[in-house]
Amino acid sequence: MNTDDKPTLKKRLSEIQYRVTQEAATEQPFSGQFWNHWEEGAYRCICCAAELFLSQDKFDAGCGWPSFSLPRDAANVAERTDLSHGMRRIEVTCSHCGAHLGHVFNDGPAPTGLRYCINSASLDFKSDAPAGKT
Ligand code: FE
Repeated sequence: MNTDDKPTLKKRLSEIQYRVTQEAATEQPFSGQFWNHWEEGAYRCICCAAELFLSQDKFDAGCGWPSFSLPRDAANVAERTDLSHGMRRIEVTCSHCGAHLGHVFNDGPAPTGLRYCINSASLDFKSDAPAGKT
């Protein structure tokens, strides 16, 4: 697992990738690389390459951000209450490196009823990655 420090990440990542993952910014809807991306494979943390979400769990929420009904493995993401911007939301981060990913909402499809609303800028994509491999 990659454990780049912040100066290294700042050099390696694009400005939006850095602002989203390290400063909890949100990319503009319909602006990212993956909101309308439907290839089969695995979505990994742009910072540390932990496998976070699978294409089979991705759905079109119409919101302009990649949306997933569950993470690849619950142990790979951490969730905590986020009271910023006058809202009460659940922030989702990478449990391996702490990168901000997005938020999870309760308006997703059955059976989980969850919508992991994730910034494209926090993700990397590996086509047809075998499950469990990073
Ligand atoms: Fe990470």
